[in-house]
Amino acid sequence: MKTPSSNATSSSRAPDDGARRRAIAIGSGVGGMAAAIRMRLQGYSVSVFESASMPGGKVGEHRHEGWRFDTGPSLFTLPELLDELFRDAGADPGQYYQYHRLDNICRYFFPDGKVLNAWSDPEKMAQEFEHVLAEPAANIHRYLHRAARIYELTRDIFLTASLHDLETWRRAPWIKTILGLPELDALSTMNNRNRRLFQQPNTVMLFNRYATYNGSNPYKAPATLNVIGHLEHNLGAYFLRGGMRNLIEAMHRLALEIGVEFEFDSPVERILVQGKKVEGVQLSARAPQALRPADVVISNMDVVPSYRKLLPGIAHPERLLSQPKSTSALIFYWSMKKSWPIFDLHNILFSSDYALEFHHLCELKTLQPDPTVYLYISSKAEPSDAPPGGENWFVMINVPHLNGQNWDELIARARERIITKLESQTGQEIRSHISAEKVLDPRGIAEMTSSHLGALYGNSSDNPMAAFLRHPNFSRSIRGLYFCGGSVHPGGGIPLCLLSARIAAEQAAKRQD
Ligand code: FAD
Repeated sequence: MKTPSSNATSSSRAPDDGARRRAIAIGSGVGGMAAAIRMRLQGYSVSVFESASMPGGKVGEHRHEGWRFDTGPSLFTLPELLDELFRDAGADPGQYYQYHRLDNICRYFFPDGKVLNAWSDPEKMAQEFEHVLAEPAANIHRYLHRAARIYELTRDIFLTASLHDLETWRRAPWIKTILGLPELDALSTMNNRNRRLFQQPNTVMLFNRYATYNGSNPYKAPATLNVIGHLEHNLGAYFLRGGMRNLIEAMHRLALEIGVEFEFDSPVERILVQGKKVEGVQLSARAPQALRPADVVISNMDVVPSYRKLLPGIAHPERLLSQPKSTSALIFYWSMKKSWPIFDLHNILFSSDYALEFHHLCELKTLQPDPTVYLYISSKAEPSDAPPGGENWFVMINVPHLNGQNWDELIARARERIITKLESQTGQEIRSHISAEKVLDPRGIAEMTSSHLGALYGNSSDNPMAAFLRHPNFSRSIRGLYFCGGSVHPGGGIPLCLLSARIAAEQAAKRQD
């Protein structure tokens, strides 16, 4: 990537109104970058300050000899939200990135030896469940229909608009939502609902898994989260050509083209507030001209340190900040010298005791002996991601957020268990085929992206009120201060981060700070 300052040019697509008002984004994760683009499109002069030396936050990349790894997200859903951002900026998304819909979304390996492909075609998938797991196809269709209905009922209030703005409630078809409340299933847990919907424990476990997409516990999270299955199975799972890092490269390029300016290695140390109005930011004392004035500041930093570190001395929304946090992840990036046809692009190898796994993760804050393993091999779709004959294995397990654990010990134990599990699945020795290894754990996630306790998605969604207990995309007490990214409304994951940026920018336009 070229040095950002040398690229900070305006183009014909930049607004020509003089860009008199100034906006600052703190952080260049997906949310921060999208918010910066949207504020620029509103005519602001926009600067992004990023503590790392490159943009992207959790959407990272690791290259080693001939192997390339996505270090964070691997599954791309709701690509139309990214396309919308580019189109709003007058750009043709196809000129910046390409993606295709996956035919097989994920290959599942169950403890009893069964292997199931979750085909993207719903009928084909339902038939697969019937043949492999003896789950009646009609149950799968019923689940998909229910999940689609939850999406329809929640989208306009809980996802695409500010939940905390009265206008949303005036505008949104909330009568439809209120009438549909029983269908939202908020008072049932995901596990209880799925046990009623399906006959086979393996099917229940498979659909319970969607709670982990926002770091929650299916044995506690409301069944409303079954909506996540709709995004993947009804709307589709996609592969971004060149890997997820291309998303960041594309957004960064667009931002530069429309005149957003970036300063890397520039951590923000304070958000400056005068009276009840934001005045700008203070950079690290290392930076020359450390005070940067602004009319609007949008923090893409996790909302907890945004308050605790950048806004000392003002009242904090303690109730929102102190909610239980989501789980985190432990990832091994293995450069494999061999390829394994048994695996697909996305693979899940389930634990023999899923309930026990979540008890350990969420209550005991540790790992159980047989964790569920997610194996992502992008070289299956992008052969240049590994040398010929090799593969790039992204091997991830869910782990608790930071809570005083001895991580070196947990990682060493987890590594052995994962290898044993993969070897028993493949029936082959794999250890000697790992030619290089890199590890990312909750300590690294916390350190690299300032995520509070290393949690991947901010608050967990383990209670029915969770959506109301995420921080809004604006400050209720400080004019000109906004928030975006995975720790605030509407939640974590790339699509929701893009939505958070859209909502924050809409709120800024409406409030005219
Ligand atoms: P973040 O990525 O959290 O970035 C915040 C940025 O702010 C960072 O660059 C940080 O350096 C910067 N910053 C922080 N403090 C300061 C400061 N004081 N001054 C300046 N800069 C600062 N999502 C999916 O959709 N699909 C997936 O498959 C998926 N898998 C995942 C797997 C892993 C291992 C991880 C870690 C995440 C995964 N996610 C997935 C979640 C997704 O990556 C995140 O929700 C999303 O990328 C978070 O974006 P964000 O806007 O919140 O910013």
